[in-house]
Amino acid sequence: MKTRYQLIILLVLIAGFIGACRTTSKIAKTPKAKNIILLIGDGMGVAQMYAGHIAKNAELNMESCKHIGFSRTHSASDLITDSGAGGTAIACGIKTTNKFIGMNPDSVAVKSILHYAEENNKSTGLVATAAITHATPASFIAHNISRYNYEALAEDFLKTDIEVFIGGGLDHFTKRKDQKSLLTDLKAKGYQIVTDQKGLKASKKSKLAALVYDKHPPYMADGRGNFLPLATNKAIELLNKDKNGFFLMIEGSQIDWAGHDNDSEKLIKEVLDFDEAVGLALDFAKKDGETLVIITADHETGGYVLSNEEEKRNSLKGIFASEHHSAVAVPVMAFGPGAEKFTGFMENTDLFHKMYEAFGFDKSKLSR
Ligand SMILES: [Zn+2]
Repeated sequence: MKTRYQLIILLVLIAGFIGACRTTSKIAKTPKAKNIILLIGDGMGVAQMYAGHIAKNAELNMESCKHIGFSRTHSASDLITDSGAGGTAIACGIKTTNKFIGMNPDSVAVKSILHYAEENNKSTGLVATAAITHATPASFIAHNISRYNYEALAEDFLKTDIEVFIGGGLDHFTKRKDQKSLLTDLKAKGYQIVTDQKGLKASKKSKLAALVYDKHPPYMADGRGNFLPLATNKAIELLNKDKNGFFLMIEGSQIDWAGHDNDSEKLIKEVLDFDEAVGLALDFAKKDGETLVIITADHETGGYVLSNEEEKRNSLKGIFASEHHSAVAVPVMAFGPGAEKFTGFMENTDLFHKMYEAFGFDKSKLSR
């Protein structure tokens, strides 16, 4: 009898062990990202990246990602997108009309990955080297038929429980046609408000509105200095206090502006500054182990190519085909849990759906 009982106990133990192994392998197969850091180099195509590589004379941080793809950027209205429709595609997963923010072509508001992260009890943040109300960051939080309705876009920051936002654009919150100061409302909602880099550096509160410039921050070439790396580190530090995880979008806004200005020198400085932020995000993700980092662009700007300088072998010159955006697909690079989904050619709208899936959010709650 004793042997029979021992045999049964042994069988139960073996069955339990096999079960445990299966569960572990199931978890290992579909790792969920607790945090996502999405970095958007506005206007950054492959040539812009490679110009940065040449100037650095070394591999960029973003080039260390092993999961690589391309994003097609056309909008619902145009083969060449603007940053409103481009940002909305990535943020909300829908193609829309150029200049629209967080709305479909029928002018119906659509929730972004930031809104879904809030609904799923995660903390959220936006960082930009432009006014925080500019098209790309606004696409993640606001809804409007025009990217240029800055004062209305600023008001939308009060309608979402975003924890941290850092950029320029203080004037859109304070010097408004309606005479309101949104800073009073932000304070009432529990935000610490800072308006300079010193304040940003010292901030400790998990709800932070850092409007560090009245309008836009200057170009790197004109003395922006350490702003983006500082903002990146601060946003990660504050958002990482949330045990449920976070979503953070960081934009290198002025790669695009240097493209519009057809200025290679400025462009390269913007790419390298953006890549420093990428490096900080990747360092955090490597230590953390539960953070998915995605680096991409909303479109290419300037039709930029690297050509030989006349009569000079192995000396490159950046040449621009236009002062506007172009239609070419832009790179997507990813690291961390779920990164393997960001490969091959994809639509810019797929980025939203892949992030939604990587977070493990409930697909039945996706209203589309
Ligand atoms: Zn642009």
